[in-house]
Amino acid sequence: MTYYSLHHEAPNATFREAVIKGLAPDKGLYFPESITPLPKSFWNDIANLSHEVIAYEAIRQFVSPDIPEAELKRIIQETLSFDFPVVDLNEQISTLELFHGPTMAFKDVGARFMARCLGYFNRNNNNEVTVLVATSGDTGGAVANGFLGVKGVNVVILYPSGKVSDIQEKQLTTLGQNIKALEVDGTFDDCQTMVKQAFLDENLTSKMALTSANSINVARWLPQMFYFMFAYKALHEKHENLVFSVPSGNFGNICAGMMAQQLGMPVEQFVASNNVNNVVTRYLLSQLYEPKPAIQTISNAMDVGAPSNFIRIQEIYKNNFEALKKYLSSYSFTDEETKSAMLEIYQKYNYVADPHGAVGYLGCKAYLKKHPKAHTVFLETAHPTKFLDVVEDVISDKQELPEQIKAVIDKKKKATSIASYEDLKTFLLT
Ligand SMILES: *Cc1c(COP(=O)(O)O)cnc(C)c1O
Repeated sequence: MTYYSLHHEAPNATFREAVIKGLAPDKGLYFPESITPLPKSFWNDIANLSHEVIAYEAIRQFVSPDIPEAELKRIIQETLSFDFPVVDLNEQISTLELFHGPTMAFKDVGARFMARCLGYFNRNNNNEVTVLVATSGDTGGAVANGFLGVKGVNVVILYPSGKVSDIQEKQLTTLGQNIKALEVDGTFDDCQTMVKQAFLDENLTSKMALTSANSINVARWLPQMFYFMFAYKALHEKHENLVFSVPSGNFGNICAGMMAQQLGMPVEQFVASNNVNNVVTRYLLSQLYEPKPAIQTISNAMDVGAPSNFIRIQEIYKNNFEALKKYLSSYSFTDEETKSAMLEIYQKYNYVADPHGAVGYLGCKAYLKKHPKAHTVFLETAHPTKFLDVVEDVISDKQELPEQIKAVIDKKKKATSIASYEDLKTFLLT
């Protein structure tokens, strides 16, 4: 597959080049030059296919010929070594649980896939690569875990001080080895700006090989298609067309769902469920795209003022506003509404949702109000105990910690504080 830059001022790249570069030299995101739908027979037969086979069929056109078949199958098998259950809350609302991986957030899938691709590309040389990543919460842990111990790869994670949960902070600051955490005096957008600046700094990039592991990287973005297809496999016999409500921040996850749709998966609608950081909700109403500085909320992984993947969504729908509106709805909810939803889910369905999942649930309800016959699925993007304080406070009930969380909670945080791009550069060069 060849990838082009969405700024159209850089040479095309192979999958390998796109993974290693992250962002194109003209600062554009990479986008695949073609998308070939899977045959009808694949979709008709999906109930009989394993997760590995579904994933392999979905991704292979995007990575070939840079990763050979057997290697790709191994990467997929290792990436998907946990469950993706679909749980019905009622007749019309299901949840797709994406928190059964090692860091208990959906980002494990993309991070594990990308780490293994990069490991494969680096298999023969000893040139060290530095993966630079900004996190609003879960990316850091998932990337740190996915890359831990991968030879020839150093990982540097920037996170906004005081704006990630205690457990998230532990997950990204306690691993050691090839993983370093930088605690930034600023917001997630500040972290992301610093990372982008580093990639454009020739003084820096001439001295070290830098790559990104944010959802802008095609190897993190594309494997997120897999679990939309798993949900389709689980539900399509009962419900013909699904509505996916995706708690969205940088819009990588929902955009991957749209790629699955481009592969031929029948989808009635995507609902971008947002907290008050709602640039896309407003865009769909006004057709004006007006990013704003991020506002802190209890669903902090979605505190993104300028979602970097939205440009890919526009590309998927050929920059046609009407075409986009046909398949994308968006709603925005306050923290108060989110907390009420968490309580409602707990009391009505005896189910504990994290704040991000609860925003997704609210998106389902908003959509169902207008389309009472739909079947909606919200993505439960993180395990509720990752947001222990809020969750226990709202439902007034103690939560049992899963093994993955117990393993980090008493470890000692190790992070370097930085406040500016100059600090970052100094850190990287020394
Ligand atoms: C990252 C994250 C999101 C947002 O996903 P995007 O792909 O950035 O839209 C939602 N929920 C949780 C728990 C996350 O970690």
